[in-house]
Amino acid sequence: MSSVLPESIQGTEHFVALNSVENFLASLYANPQVPRNVVQTVVKDMKNIFNGIHQTLKNSTIKLLSEGNISNESFNHFNNILEVLEEPFTDLGTEYKRIKYFTDLGTYIAPCEYVIDTLEYVDKLKVHSSILINFVQFSVWKKKEKNHGTQIVFPIFLFFDDYEVGNALGSHSGIHKLGAGVHSITGFVESFSSNYPCRICKMRKEDIQNQSSVDNNLIRTVEQYNLDVNEGDVSSSGIKEACIWHKVLGFNVLEQVGMDIMHDILEGVGKYDLAFLISYYIEDLKIFTLQVLNERIVCFDYGPDKGSKPCVLHIEHLRKKNIRLSASEMMSLIRYFGLLIGYLVPLNDPIWCLYILLRQILDIVTSTSLQVGPLVNLWCMRFEAKHRLSKISANTSSNRRNICKTLAIKHQLQLNNLFLKGTLGDDIESGPSKKIISNTDIKKIKEFMEIDSFESLKQCTWICIKGIKYQSKMVLTLDIDENNLPKFVLCPMGVHM
Ligand SMILES: [Zn+2]
Repeated sequence: MSSVLPESIQGTEHFVALNSVENFLASLYANPQVPRNVVQTVVKDMKNIFNGIHQTLKNSTIKLLSEGNISNESFNHFNNILEVLEEPFTDLGTEYKRIKYFTDLGTYIAPCEYVIDTLEYVDKLKVHSSILINFVQFSVWKKKEKNHGTQIVFPIFLFFDDYEVGNALGSHSGIHKLGAGVHSITGFVESFSSNYPCRICKMRKEDIQNQSSVDNNLIRTVEQYNLDVNEGDVSSSGIKEACIWHKVLGFNVLEQVGMDIMHDILEGVGKYDLAFLISYYIEDLKIFTLQVLNERIVCFDYGPDKGSKPCVLHIEHLRKKNIRLSASEMMSLIRYFGLLIGYLVPLNDPIWCLYILLRQILDIVTSTSLQVGPLVNLWCMRFEAKHRLSKISANTSSNRRNICKTLAIKHQLQLNNLFLKGTLGDDIESGPSKKIISNTDIKKIKEFMEIDSFESLKQCTWICIKGIKYQSKMVLTLDIDENNLPKFVLCPMGVHM
C-alpha cells in the first residue's frame, strides 16, 4: 500500500506513521454514526490544528537558526519533516480526492445506480417457473393478480417481530408467546390458552394438544372468517376483530401471513417435543437420569456451535413440558440430542422416531440450498443485524435527497475500511502450534498429500481460514456424490498447516 506522505521525507524518521492518515479517514467514513459531511469538517479542523503546530515549530527552528544554535543542514532537514504538518492531508483534502484515492487503491467500490425495469424483471420471473425465488411466482399471488385484469399490481411485504433480547417475555422466562406478535396485528387472539388459538385453522385448544396432522375441514376459509367477524364472539372463533390490513386492497389475512422458524420451531414445537422426549425417557422408561443428560450437555464438545451451548435443564420445567433455553441454544440441543443421549435409547424405540422427524424438519427448514424458497432466508435474526448499521447511518444523515444512494455509499465506505484494515482478507489464523516430528503423523500426511519437505509443516489445535474455523474432530462435508448423498470427512486430532 502506498503512502500519502510526500516523497521527500519518505525513508526519514517521521512522526506521522505511514498509512495512519488514510486509515484514520477510512475508519471515520466507516463509522455509521458519522455522516460524510462531518468527515470534511474534521479534516478542516485538524488541518488548522496541524498548521498551528507547524507554525510554532517553524518559528522556533528559524529562531534557533538565527541564533546560531543549529546548522543550516539541520534546519533544512527538520524543515522537510515539518512539511508534513503543513499539509497533513496532501492528497486527501477533499471528499473527491479521498474517494478517488480509495478507488485507485481498489478498496472502495462505488455503488452503481440502476433503474430496474421492474416490469421486465417480473415478466422474466414469470417465464422461469421451475425454480421459485420470488413471491410473484407463487399461486397465491397469481390468483390475486387475476382480480386486477390489465392493471399493474405489486406485492408489498410487512415485517413484524416481537422478539427482543432482554425482554421480560424472552425465551428464558418460559412464557409462551408463539406467534403472538403476528396475532396482535392481525386481529386474532394472542393467548395460546384461548379456545381457538390458531390463525390457520379453527381447532379447539383441547384438540390441538392431541392432533398430529392437519384437519382440512377445520382450515379457516374467507367465508367462515367473515361470518366469525360478523358474529363477534371471540370465545367461539378466536378472532378479536376484523384484520385491519383488509383495508389494503387485495390483502387477505388467511393467505398472506408468513411463518418463522425461530418462533414456530425453536421457541415452539421443538421445545415441546424435546420436553416430552426427555421426561418420557427419564420418568417413564427410566433409561437415563436427568443428571446424566445434564452432565452430557455440559461436557459435550459442541465444536463450531459452542457459542450456543445449552444450559442444564430443570426437572420442574420438564414436568410442565417446557425447556427454558434461548432460540439458538434450543437449536443446538435439537441438533446434538442424538449424539448426547441417543446411545442410551433402545434400538427401534418408537418414540425416538419423533426425535428423528423433528431433526429432519429442522434440517430442511434451516437448509440454505433448497430449490423452493429456503425458509432460513426469511429468518429474522440475520436481517436485523445487517439492517442495524444502515438504520444508524440513516438516522445520523440529514440528507434525504437520495437516502438509498447515501446509504449505499456509506455501506461501500464500511467495506473500504474493512479492506484497508485487511480484517476480511485471506488471513490465516491458528491456535498454538508445534512442529511435526512423529513419523506416524508424517506417514499419514503422505497418504493425502504429495509433499517432500516436512520442515514447514506445523500441527495446531485450530486454524481459521477466511473467517471459518476448523478444529480437530470436526465433521465436514467434502462433496455431494452422484446419488446426491454427502461425503463426510473427520478432521484428525490436530490440524496440519
Ligand atoms: Zn391450526
